[in-house]
Amino acid sequence: MFVEVILPVPLSDTYTYFVPENLRAAVFPGSLVSVTFGRNKHYSGVIAYIHTIKPTCPYEIKPIVAVEQSSPVVRRPQLRFWEWLSQYYLCSLGEVAKAALPSGFRKEPSMGYKPKKEVFIRLASQCKTAESLRSTFDSLKRAVKQEQLLLAFIDYSRLFDQNIAEGSLPEAEISKKALLTRSGSGEAALAALINKGILESYSKEVGRLSSDDLPLSDPNRLNSLQQQAYIEILQHFREKNVCLLHGVTSSGKTEIYIHLINETLKLNRQALFLLPEIALTTQITDRLKRYFGNKMGVYHSKVSDNERLEIWNNLLHDEGFQVILGVRSSIFLPFRDLGLIIVDEEHEPGYKQQNPAPRYHARNAAIVLATMHSAKVVLGSATPSLESYFNAQTGKYGYVALNKRFEETELPTIIPVDVKELRRKKQMKSLLSPLLTEKISRLLENGEQVLLFQNRRGFAPMVVCRICDWTPKCRFCDVSLTVHKHSNRLACHYCGSTYPIPAECPECGNKDLKPRGFGTEMVEEELQRIFPEIHIDRMDFDTTREKKSFEAIISRFEQGKTQVLIGTQMISKGLDFEKVGLVGILSADSLINFPDFRAYERAYQLMSQVAGRAGRRKQQGEVILQTSNPEHPLIRQVLNHDYEGMVRLQLEERRMFRYPPFYRLIEINLKHKQTDLLQEMAAEYARMLRQSLGDRVIGPYTPPIVRVQSLYIRKILLKMEISASLNVMREAIENATTHITANRRFKYVTIQYDVDPVG
Ligand code: ADP
Ligand code: ZN
Ligand code: ZN
Repeated sequence: MFVEVILPVPLSDTYTYFVPENLRAAVFPGSLVSVTFGRNKHYSGVIAYIHTIKPTCPYEIKPIVAVEQSSPVVRRPQLRFWEWLSQYYLCSLGEVAKAALPSGFRKEPSMGYKPKKEVFIRLASQCKTAESLRSTFDSLKRAVKQEQLLLAFIDYSRLFDQNIAEGSLPEAEISKKALLTRSGSGEAALAALINKGILESYSKEVGRLSSDDLPLSDPNRLNSLQQQAYIEILQHFREKNVCLLHGVTSSGKTEIYIHLINETLKLNRQALFLLPEIALTTQITDRLKRYFGNKMGVYHSKVSDNERLEIWNNLLHDEGFQVILGVRSSIFLPFRDLGLIIVDEEHEPGYKQQNPAPRYHARNAAIVLATMHSAKVVLGSATPSLESYFNAQTGKYGYVALNKRFEETELPTIIPVDVKELRRKKQMKSLLSPLLTEKISRLLENGEQVLLFQNRRGFAPMVVCRICDWTPKCRFCDVSLTVHKHSNRLACHYCGSTYPIPAECPECGNKDLKPRGFGTEMVEEELQRIFPEIHIDRMDFDTTREKKSFEAIISRFEQGKTQVLIGTQMISKGLDFEKVGLVGILSADSLINFPDFRAYERAYQLMSQVAGRAGRRKQQGEVILQTSNPEHPLIRQVLNHDYEGMVRLQLEERRMFRYPPFYRLIEINLKHKQTDLLQEMAAEYARMLRQSLGDRVIGPYTPPIVRVQSLYIRKILLKMEISASLNVMREAIENATTHITANRRFKYVTIQYDVDPVG
């Protein structure tokens, strides 16, 4: 008996091992086994399948060493899903396994995880009949505190929620912590009751994730528009597996999701609620916990390794979580039977994994995952991706629109401010135009709040010598360094290395180095200078590295402790604040001028999403949009909330220049330390590809950033018709790669594939 084992190494797909007699009963597809690999290195791997065909290979087949858990850790639909991921995204099964399995599975057993224990309280056995409980109460008449605590125990443990038959009382328990905090009682009263043999305490293993049982609420009733949308979604699901819910910000999409999840749970099927980024989970977690309580697990990058393992193991039980709220990697969890996947803010680029492989798109992968479970998918957005919108237009997906906000407030008014004109007239005295400054000041007087959006972190994207134009660059990457005043360093946003800020220009000795452009730190400094008395917070990559920092920033703003929140794209997504009357977009130009075929689509989405944070309840909000090009077609579309207009224009261009959704892109990145060798290699690679793929091959070309982390980069782009065979394309790529890597001169090249790249 042999098994094919998936090992978390990027080389091949599976490795064959021999199963010794004593382990035969214990191996299944999906079992976690330990094996030796290479020079006696120990690895944990997952069994892909079992067979009896002795491989014809020159070396000896090794046995598996042990089966690590009594039952499989990966379910069968998952194995099929891994297979698909590796085929479609051009990577090995090992790379998929590495991305999918919590790292806890790969640790040495002794370092493994310790279950968390908690103290619980229940009735002592001598007190377990209605009769004895009654007499106990009589005996406590003079011990008021103990009597109260016992009453509280009965209440919170829901002892009498269940029907009591004659004789003994049902089992009921509550954690000691919850009992004491909710009853407001002290340790002494509890100790007394335990001493008297009325209550008893014991310790029990609990999930790290489980919170106390709070009473669950019923979902809000949908209003008539929501109800209609909800019915339409269900109607589409009779014929289609995917439905796009295109609802303006604050139209109540989340409420509709909650109703759909509820229906799924009634059928005893599971639901996965995907979000693009952890920043969003805070608010939605609180909201969903009210309805799904402990039936829901939360999975994201700031969840610890132990918690990941625990969620995974929980889902391996048939009684495990019914709802998972999570970021892209939660598509890898071992679902028993998914009935529904919600992809909220489906247009967000955060759904795309950039590095390492598999470079998957969680929205697209979720749709494939859903077919493996016969589940339905809702894609939700106020500004759908062109791909999804196109699929809805052409009838592949169902389409449901929600055009009114829940409170019927109008969408915000967007007022353009021409900063070029203001600069010419010398009226632009700070980063904030006079109109923006005036509006902020009026709003703050009213006790309302302001969001300011600038999609660059740090103080300034570069410094320049006033005399000779010298600008500091990263030693490892071909990019200029960003000034960070807060840490008083220059930083490379590509490799993370930092440098001291030079006191003078090393070229000419000039001491006058000037920052060029501006980031969130500079906005903060300017704003504080203009409004010295207000409280400002900043939400960007630099201020959110710590585990709880998102929560802290969001909750300070919710509680009104901060009046202005400045942020990068992090503040554009799904956050729901009550008192934001004004949103300022400080520089629309940098978004529009980005060198990527999705730049306009993305700029539209970012600006209308961030604008959507204004006036979400009751009152219409305002948005000030600063730009040096107010007549730009894209700016006009943003001002007029003209999503359809944007789509029409963009789709025309995409069709003309062979881009998605009309074509499928595959980017091949070649990297090497030496630029000449790389150029030669890339030309050869492209030549090989052209032999079978012809003019679908673009390049090689040099990307805007020539070098990152000491490696030069050349790119080759494939533009494939959507109907083109993936097998033909995969073969062509494999051939070219084999050809290149067989040449000893090109030995140290790195080759990466990115299918459906997102810039
Ligand atoms: P979206 O997800 O489309 O941005 P939300 O679901 O967050 O919109 O709804 C916006 C606001 O309106 C939220 O504060 C939500 O609680 C409220 N809301 C939406 N639908 C209902 C409903 N049916 N009953 C009560 N409140 C609702
Ligand atoms: Zn100089
Ligand atoms: Zn760098």
